[in-house]
Amino acid sequence: MSVFWNSRTRNLDPYVPGEQPRDRRFIKLNTNENPYPPSPLVIETIREAAGEELRRYPDPECTELRELIARKYGVKEEQVFVGNGSDEVLAFSFGAFFEPLSGAACPGSSAAVSRPVLFPDITYSFYHIYARLWGIPCHTVALDDTFSVRAGDYRVPSGGLSLPNPNAPTGRAVSLAELRSIIEYQYREGGGVVIVDEAYRDFGLVQAGESAVSLIDEYPNLLTVHTFSKSFSLAGLRVGFAIGSGELLEGLRRIRDSFNSYTVDRLALAGAAAAIADSAYYEGINRRVMATRDRVSLALTSLGFDLIPSLTNFILVRVPGKSGAEAFKALRERGILARHFNQDRIQDFLRVSIGTDEEMDVFLTECGGLIRE
Ligand SMILES: *Cc1c(COP(=O)(O)O)cnc(C)c1O
Repeated sequence: MSVFWNSRTRNLDPYVPGEQPRDRRFIKLNTNENPYPPSPLVIETIREAAGEELRRYPDPECTELRELIARKYGVKEEQVFVGNGSDEVLAFSFGAFFEPLSGAACPGSSAAVSRPVLFPDITYSFYHIYARLWGIPCHTVALDDTFSVRAGDYRVPSGGLSLPNPNAPTGRAVSLAELRSIIEYQYREGGGVVIVDEAYRDFGLVQAGESAVSLIDEYPNLLTVHTFSKSFSLAGLRVGFAIGSGELLEGLRRIRDSFNSYTVDRLALAGAAAAIADSAYYEGINRRVMATRDRVSLALTSLGFDLIPSLTNFILVRVPGKSGAEAFKALRERGILARHFNQDRIQDFLRVSIGTDEEMDVFLTECGGLIRE
């Protein structure tokens, strides 16, 4: 605490990112990065973009990248908004669409006492943080005993909702039919915007034809959010985007342009565009990630570990006979970094990102060692 902080700063509860160790001692399975490098075309394109033109501001509307994204995702360019990582897009979305407690946004605002925004009790922890930052009341909805979303729980009056699909850190997905029922209900009942965060869509959801992007033209209250950080191997570049109706995107631009019009730099624009162009490369590496995930899941199950079937590039596992904190520490001592959330219901689990086959073989060996200890 500092006397120089205002009340907003004092009230924040900032996100604590997974550790990024400076040395390479660890097998790093703690932040869901892709274990494979970005496409060579991406690196080459960024190198070419690192030139004289950097003295100029980038295109604030990210026009070229939006065109490429639109073509790949089968939507219109006016339905795409690009930001500095999907975290920024999510933060802008909470600020643009969810109603703060009466009067918090601007003095004299006539907003009635607002209905809370819904999200699952176990989900991406940034949602709570954005709600707090913007003064938005929220209400968490418990996942069922199998850590699944019960769609009916979200067909209730709300001020909007935010749902990762597949969910993180559980790895489970809700079906497109169920999602549609939620979006439809919220649309009919004037319940506000439904954010579907598809950060992990390329690890099985899209292949199953279950992406909510297919509903964009039907529901002006739907915003899907996407990232280059996971399936495009570009967490270090910071690019994310949203797909939604023109009126939602106009709201996002109003927030962005009240903050910083140039959130995506020239190198990031160039690299992301090259990534979209090299789909074949990414399909290849993500197929490998999924195959490794399925193999490791089977192996862990036969070791007696409890795990949740995952449609992402991570798995949530429970090490038999150890608390989550103990398992985290024991793996760390063996050179493996996983993620432990000290949170109700999942404190005995670890979230383990899928690494290369070689890394996961070491992980499996160490897991075998753990249970024999
Ligand atoms: C990783 C992740 C993101 C963040 O992505 P960035 O684009 O790196 O900011 C967003 N949502 C979920 C659910 C994630 O797991």
